[in-house]
Amino acid sequence: MSLGTTLRVTKQRQVLLDELSKVRTHPTADELYQMVRKRLPRISLGTVYRNLELMAENGMIQKLEVGGTQKRFDGNAAPHYHIRCQKCGRVDDLSLPLAHDVERQAREYTDFTILRHNLEFSGFCPDCQESKGRR
Ligand SMILES: [Zn+2]
Ligand SMILES: [Zn+2]
Repeated sequence: MSLGTTLRVTKQRQVLLDELSKVRTHPTADELYQMVRKRLPRISLGTVYRNLELMAENGMIQKLEVGGTQKRFDGNAAPHYHIRCQKCGRVDDLSLPLAHDVERQAREYTDFTILRHNLEFSGFCPDCQESKGRR
């Protein structure tokens, strides 16, 4: 699907959007499936996957993909940065101002037209730091 086309907001998509915008945890498709099932008991995991992919392609939500980990989804479609815990996989928003400079600098190194950039930090979340200290 090309960018800019409008995706019809079905009941299922609306419920997915609602549930996704309630949390800041960047849930996986499986977690979202458990969440929406309370309101749409007959929805299938496949339908949840398909709709999430379509909504991400359409720019209604964001898909966070890091090699070797489960995809996570974000109801906040505006560009922002993330930080991921290397131990438990928790993903938080990081409210660092967007580095527009990076894109300007990157243009000097490529002939590509740059549309956006993703930046993800990793480390240990407060809970995992604590459990490390207790050992
Ligand atoms: Zn952690
Ligand atoms: Zn986010």
